[in-house]
Amino acid sequence: KGSGAGRLGIYFLGGVHAREWGSPDILVNFVQLLANAYRTNTDITIGSRTFTAAQIKSVVEKKDIYVFPQANPDGRNYSMLTDPMWRKNRRPAPAGHTQSQCVGVDVNRNYDFLWDFPKYFDPKSPLANSTDPCDHDVYIGPAATSEPETKNAVWMFDNFPHIRYFVDLHSYSEDILYNWGDDVDQSADPAMNFQNPAYDGKRGIANDKA
Ligand SMILES: [Zn+2]
Repeated sequence: KGSGAGRLGIYFLGGVHAREWGSPDILVNFVQLLANAYRTNTDITIGSRTFTAAQIKSVVEKKDIYVFPQANPDGRNYSMLTDPMWRKNRRPAPAGHTQSQCVGVDVNRNYDFLWDFPKYFDPKSPLANSTDPCDHDVYIGPAATSEPETKNAVWMFDNFPHIRYFVDLHSYSEDILYNWGDDVDQSADPAMNFQNPAYDGKRGIANDKA
């Protein structure tokens, strides 16, 4: 609610993985909780945590909250109707590939960040990525950001540059994953970063010297 200079954007994305049905539903429920609490000036209690009506009011009136709850609707539809464990989108299979698992791209591995993983990572690194369109779960796609689902998720950042917080909500495991986690975290050597080609082919090995 409201407008004005200096408002920070907070972006919640959901539904990237088709089979993780909890993710979009959790975000829709979050919007309902927040809107109802704001409208009725009441607290929200989740487990042992209470967010006061004053805190809710502050968030709604001083921040811009963007919720994109379902990034992969075709995949979700297929998961709900045909294959419950379907994860990718529904990009048609390449010519000559007739198996059902040759459909689709893992939207989560299609972003333009270290997309061309064989170039950036050590062949021995324990990556769960694939350049094979017939990989059931982790095919990275024919090009970075090739998929409309990926483009939509990125469009939010490009069109709302005041976004400063981002949560990509999945519902597969009980983990919190932080960004820039593609190799061992370090903050001592600024040259040792994901843009430096000197480290191409050397990333992804835990506790290595490189
Ligand atoms: Zn996921």
